[in-house]
Amino acid sequence: MGSDPERIQVLLPLPLSGPFDYLADGDMTLEAGDFVTVPLGKRSLQGVVWNMAPEQSDIAADKIKPVLARRDLPPLPRTLMQFIDWVASYTLSPPGAVLKIAVTVPRAFDRPKEKTLYRLSADLPEKLPEKLTRGRRAVVAAAIGDMPMELKTWAGLAAVGSGVVRGMVRAGQMVAVTVSGDPPYPEPDAKHAGPDLSPEQQKAAGHIRDMVQARIFKPVLLEGITGSGKTEVYFEAIAEALEMPGAQILVLVPEIALTAQWLTRFEQRFGAEPVVWHSGLTPAQRRRAWWAIIKGQAKERARVVVGARSALFLPFQDLKLIVVDEEHSATFKQEEGVIYQGRDMAVVRAMQASCPVILASATPSLETILNAESGKYDWLYLGERHGEALLPDMTAIDLRHHRTRTGTWLSDPLREALEKNLAQGEQSLLYLNRRGYAPLTLCRSCGHRMECPHCSAWLVEHRSNGRLVCHHCGFSCQPPRICPECQAEDSMAACGPGVERVAEEMHELFPEARIMVMASDEISSAAEMHAMISRIERHEVDFIIGTQIVTKGYHFPMLTLVGVVDADLGLSGGDPRAAERTWQQLEQVAGRAGRADRPGRVLFQTYDPGHPVLQALLSGDGQAFLLEEARAREQQMLPPFGKLAAIIISGRDYKPVVKCARHLAASAPKGCGIIVLGPVSAPMAFLKGNHRFRLLVKAEKQVRLQNILRDWLNRCPHGRGVIIQVDIDPYSFL
Ligand code: ADP
Ligand code: ZN
Repeated sequence: MGSDPERIQVLLPLPLSGPFDYLADGDMTLEAGDFVTVPLGKRSLQGVVWNMAPEQSDIAADKIKPVLARRDLPPLPRTLMQFIDWVASYTLSPPGAVLKIAVTVPRAFDRPKEKTLYRLSADLPEKLPEKLTRGRRAVVAAAIGDMPMELKTWAGLAAVGSGVVRGMVRAGQMVAVTVSGDPPYPEPDAKHAGPDLSPEQQKAAGHIRDMVQARIFKPVLLEGITGSGKTEVYFEAIAEALEMPGAQILVLVPEIALTAQWLTRFEQRFGAEPVVWHSGLTPAQRRRAWWAIIKGQAKERARVVVGARSALFLPFQDLKLIVVDEEHSATFKQEEGVIYQGRDMAVVRAMQASCPVILASATPSLETILNAESGKYDWLYLGERHGEALLPDMTAIDLRHHRTRTGTWLSDPLREALEKNLAQGEQSLLYLNRRGYAPLTLCRSCGHRMECPHCSAWLVEHRSNGRLVCHHCGFSCQPPRICPECQAEDSMAACGPGVERVAEEMHELFPEARIMVMASDEISSAAEMHAMISRIERHEVDFIIGTQIVTKGYHFPMLTLVGVVDADLGLSGGDPRAAERTWQQLEQVAGRAGRADRPGRVLFQTYDPGHPVLQALLSGDGQAFLLEEARAREQQMLPPFGKLAAIIISGRDYKPVVKCARHLAASAPKGCGIIVLGPVSAPMAFLKGNHRFRLLVKAEKQVRLQNILRDWLNRCPHGRGVIIQVDIDPYSFL
């Protein structure tokens, strides 16, 4: 007979307050991390056993429902459970909402499909009698060693009907074997093809190899100018970890699209592709990856995973190294649902796994630089470009002196440089961080602007599909021929340039040239991105016109000229990181020029060449610029000198939203090193049909901000239909 049922706690992947109590049958032999099916109301749901022996709760024993079943899945590793709890507590999210990131893998929890293969029976040779038919003899002859194969493969190889093979199975001359339908990932080989590192690279690589060996938590900033070989250097750390049996390595990259080139390089270095993880995978691909990562047997386990920020929540069994590539990238910030900064959480994950974490960038974030400066992080620097390549020559084009004709965006000096580059048979890149044709459509008669009906935002004209599009909610409509306001005919005019419009100008200037537009809305899949990159690499393109998608770590040897169409774009607005981010983007895009043996040139079109960002780019002294930025942030008590949180209050109806925002402000914590600013109507006062207000909480560094916020928000019940979002360490101020 089984023992008494036990009280346990199960976390469900839902935004509930915490894990719920259930009773587990003594025969069920559960442990923390096990997947179980439990009832909730009338439904039955999948959850994870979170606590085996919870402290006595006040729920009466007869109210507690039983666990229905234990699922036959490997338990969630303890380190992942710990990480989920940590992220929930830091971001003030319900733990179940965080668990959801880790387990919402459609069909991941189906056991991998199994396949039946066949091989010749082991005792067949002795029995091989003359009376074996010609067909059966052909099957025996078709064997490839003792490799099991599918029925139809046997039939194909032996050139017989599959009935012949089936007959042999019935006769016991062939036996069935069941194998997993998901083939294991080939194992990367640490020694496959290592490069000869320069002395500078060797020194950095040696340092991080030692750290991997030491198996302790340590963040390292790997800073290096674009093209200095940061990737080669952290590959050495990966190689070191690969030498440890079963050790796993996670590489976070800002956008999965960038990995096309990265994957090729990885394969060249290690002889096999890593496991790729991002939101675009099919359910079957996800299942294969998830199961390979959670494998208990060191020998069968997936070793290297490259992925977007959600890869942090994969069930690694033995994480020995984390790399965050392009660590400054804003795309590591998750802005919806559980709002978290992937780069910062990578450091936490490494701490919990007791392994090193490498943050690599040519333009590190201010936060990381300061951590390196204070000695909290180790700091490695690569100052030389690999081989003969030199840093490009940078010049500003002052648009106050080099005016462009109305409706055109390229000044004379930039046009001449493009022309010369084309004549020399080299490639040029024009950078403008604006998708579409024109950011604004305006009525020439009455001044009416085309705005999104659901957001406080202009509609952006896209000529490639002939629509006006909202970049915030996806709303789109036909461009009107008649002004919706004053009914004037044919009065709507496109204002300002997007990449499509610059492309149009380029086609007029260079009708013979091969021009490619690269923007996220032109690219629907990683494969398409891959194809575009290959075309550039094969030099089938003369001019690339791109948004920030091209600033990511690409390496194009024939690309020698970069023209920044509007270097002032992005500098205005209320974002305290606006200058830092603009500097990072422009430095990155400039770094695409002259990466091989041909020297590169960068031209910045600007109305404000004296701006500190432009000065930093032209002088090459990014450090001085960042220190100046740091000083300004210190004065304003902004991160990393103080703590910051944003509270966004939103809802369909205006009145309850305002009421809630005011109520929150009125009951805000006072004194104790905290200042609460607002409420103010958000810059995006209306988004996806919701009204929005913002509060900003600034706190001194030693303040335990999360505890205070939790108390405060718990004291303020929000009205019906009002959503309160907390954004710890906000990056977006819209
Ligand atoms: P970063 O990541 O710093 O921009 P990469 O690692 O992409 O630099 O290196 C730039 C280019 O130089 C790449 O094509 C890379 O393969 C090459 N490279 C860098 N270091 C070496 C080396 N030691 N041996 C051979 N090629 C190298
Ligand atoms: Zn919209």
